[in-house]
Order: sequence, then C-alpha cells, then structure tokens
Amino acid sequence: MKTVLITGAARGIGKGCAIAFARKGYNVAINYNNSQKEAEILKSDILSNGLSAEIFKADVSREEEAKRLTYDVVSRFGKIDVLINNAGKALYKPFDEVTDLQWQNLCACDLSSVIYCTKYAVKDMLPHRFGRIINISSMWGERGASCEAHYSAVKAGVIGFTKALSKEYAPCGITVNCITPGVIDTDMLNIFSAQEKAELISRTPCARLGTPYDVAAAALFFADAGSDFITGQVLGVDGGFI
Ligand code: NAP
Repeated sequence: MKTVLITGAARGIGKGCAIAFARKGYNVAINYNNSQKEAEILKSDILSNGLSAEIFKADVSREEEAKRLTYDVVSRFGKIDVLINNAGKALYKPFDEVTDLQWQNLCACDLSSVIYCTKYAVKDMLPHRFGRIINISSMWGERGASCEAHYSAVKAGVIGFTKALSKEYAPCGITVNCITPGVIDTDMLNIFSAQEKAELISRTPCARLGTPYDVAAAALFFADAGSDFITGQVLGVDGGFI
C-alpha cells in the first residue's frame, strides 16, 4: 500500500487531494498546522469509509518541524511514496505596503516549506528508488499578478525548484512535478469580494471556479506509477485562464 504525505491537508486543495488519494487506496498522512479540528474530522471521514489516514501536526515553514513530520509519517506508515507540497498562504497587498516580516513569513510558508519537506522526504524515497514529489505552485507564479508580486515571486520559485530538482533526482526514480492552479474555490478566495470572484470567473474560459478535486486529479496523474517518464513539468489546472 502506497503512502502520500500532503502538507496543509485539513482544508481546501490539500483536503481534496487527501480524499482523492484515500479513495485510490493510499495511506494518507494529513499534515495540519492550525486546523486540528478539521484534520480530525477529515481523518474520521476517511476511516469511516474503510480507508487509511492519520493526522500529523507540523508547521512546515520550520525545518525542524518538517523533519519531524517526515520521520513521524515513516514511523507510522513505513515509507513515503508521494509528497504533495501544498501548504501555503496568500498575500494580496500593494507591493510597497508589504513589510519585511510579511515577506519573510510568506517565503517560509510557501517556498522554504517545499524545500524542507522535500529534503527529508527524499531521504526516505532514495533507498526505494521510487518517489513522486508534487509541488502546488500557482498560475501567478507563471504570469504574475498585480498586488501579488511577493506571492508570484515565491510561486515562481516553486516552479524553478521543481525544474532543477527533477533533473537531479530523475536517475534515482524520483519524479518532481508542479501544478499551477487557477482560481480554486477554497478559503484562500475569502480575500476577494463576490464581485471580484465573478470577475475572476468571467476571465476563466471554463466559466466556473475550480474545485480542490480538479487539482487532485492532476496530482493523481503525476503520482501514478505509469507517469515515471514525466518529470520537471508544470501542469496548469486553471480552466484555460492562462
Ligand atoms: P487554504 O484553503 O487557505 O488552505 C491552506 C492550507 O495551507 C491549510 O490547510 C493550512 O493549514 C496550510 N498551511 C498554511 N501554512 C502552513 C504551515 N506553515 N504549516 C502547515 N500547513 C500550513 O488554501 P488553498 O486554496 O487550499 O491553497 C493550497 C495551495 O494551493 C497553496 O499553496 C496555494 O498557494 C495554492 N493555490 C491556491 C489557489 C486558489 O485559488 N485557492 C490558486 C493557486 C494556488 P492549517 O489551516 O492547518 O494551518
């Protein structure tokens, strides 16, 4: 039985991935930081369907916690086959109003977390000569968004990291790919008014908001054993926005 570790899995896109991977028969390691109650409910929902899950608290923006997280998951499930680096936060603010502390926090949460979790998960993947690392970036990491320059910068960093690391680990049976979601209906959109959301939908050719399951479908594709010749790729799940 394969194991997937999903960071920030109690809510939003991470939760959608947790449910989708559980349904495919994975042991699902649900990482959370603040949303303990949501994580517990998700775990019990998965278990009540006869599927496998466990919850793990860690602030993945801190290296020691990311290290402990991967250790705890391997202790519980024996190995990590798939890592989905999903945890992240948004920062929607005019460029010159962003403080250095906000920038440092964003960078730690959305980029350093990806590097830390990958660093310790690959230690477990290398001896097995199998691994799937799937990074959740954003379409803004490719295109850039007004009032999201810092967010766009860290998400572009995730794409660069994906491409570089894919070359390094391809000979070891570990693929590294990236998903760039468009506008997905999660709590992250709470910063937008109803009118702004309608505007975003009108700019999306598929004429709707994406769902966490739309993103999960792409993650399942990259995780599949049959995808082992696909690495260093950036797959947009944006309803045609870009
Ligand atoms: P969300 O509903 O706000 O969920 C964010 C998740 O990240 C939560 O589960 C949260 O966990 C977790 N998280 C944040 N900081 C963390 C930390 N330091 N340690 C551990 N977990 C942490 O957002 P979402 O829309 O699902 O976003 C998921 C990913 O997709 C993010 O990387 C985001 O940038 C990306 N994305 C989203 C959209 C969109 O339109 N929604 C578009 C493009 C990209 P806790 O609640 O437990 O703290």
